[in-house]
Amino acid sequence: MKPFAYDRTHAGWSEWMTKQGEPAFRANQMMDWLYKKRVHSFHDMTNLSRGLRERLSEEFQLEPLETLTVQQSDDGTVKFLFRLHDGHAIETVIMRHNYGNSVCVTTQVGCRIGCTFCASTLGGLKRDLTTGEVVAQVMAAQKYLDREGGRVHSVVIMGIGEPFENYEATVGFMRVINDPRGLGIGQRHITVSTSGIVPSIYKFADEKLQAVLAISLHAPNQEVRKKLMPVSRRYPLEELLEACQYYSDQTGRRITYEYALIGGKNDQPEHAHELGQLLAGSGALVNLIPVNYVPERNYIRTPRNQVFRFQKIVESYKVKATIRREHGSDIDAACGQLRAKHMDAEKRSS
Ligand code: SF4
Repeated sequence: MKPFAYDRTHAGWSEWMTKQGEPAFRANQMMDWLYKKRVHSFHDMTNLSRGLRERLSEEFQLEPLETLTVQQSDDGTVKFLFRLHDGHAIETVIMRHNYGNSVCVTTQVGCRIGCTFCASTLGGLKRDLTTGEVVAQVMAAQKYLDREGGRVHSVVIMGIGEPFENYEATVGFMRVINDPRGLGIGQRHITVSTSGIVPSIYKFADEKLQAVLAISLHAPNQEVRKKLMPVSRRYPLEELLEACQYYSDQTGRRITYEYALIGGKNDQPEHAHELGQLLAGSGALVNLIPVNYVPERNYIRTPRNQVFRFQKIVESYKVKATIRREHGSDIDAACGQLRAKHMDAEKRSS
């Protein structure tokens, strides 16, 4: 299979162009055609010679994704279901905020981490995506927004998969979309969310990127976390918090902790007090997420008033806590839902 054009950074294009005997500035032209002019074919790159365009078509693929479905919610949320070259399906979402459009991307087909509240892990991990397959999701979102004169303001790496289990492709993706010669999405506008793969957090801190690091915490202590997130057996809470401190020290960025509230499991006032105590003085932000009902696990949603109460208790420890706004509740917006539906339909028809 041919590699994807979106797999390459600017440096990768410079190297390829040099090998072709072309001047180095051709790499800038490639970035311009791919990310600014956003062409759909190498043949549209009209300031490159015909021979060069032919070599590009022989060696690379330009469109790694086939669009299967696009759903648009009343609140403007757009959910894409894409088919990859090997038939696997992935999801990408555009969310609307008052500060701009944010795109949530997928980094793996399925996931092997096994968080008990997550539907995306039920079928296990099928494969990692390449850098280009992740970049292509942002490009598809940008091309969709082009029709309304909009642009991608920020990117959250929070779709299906554990990005730090696909580390090189994830960091490569961040470098490609951040490049000012391309999409130029600011590092501070890129959030990467991890279940807590401790060695990768240290490695990522040393990349000295200014990205927002979001940790899927979901529990105020190791005991509860172990039950909800098997990854916590490998990387206990204490080690995780030390790694987060290292990230903050290296980058000067504060950490966001994602906390999915699951009825009766981690949403009681005593959990809120423990969470407040755990993070007091760390400068962290807590993002509370009322979890969606997972029928396979029999998890129930925390009532709204209890969510507010939880938030208040956490904030009483001077820890900033927000409640995640739901996007696209009238479409299949929960992570993995659209893909799961598609997989069911394929199974029934086979
Ligand atoms: S929450 Fe993320 S890391 Fe955990 S199982 Fe789901 S996709 Fe994997």
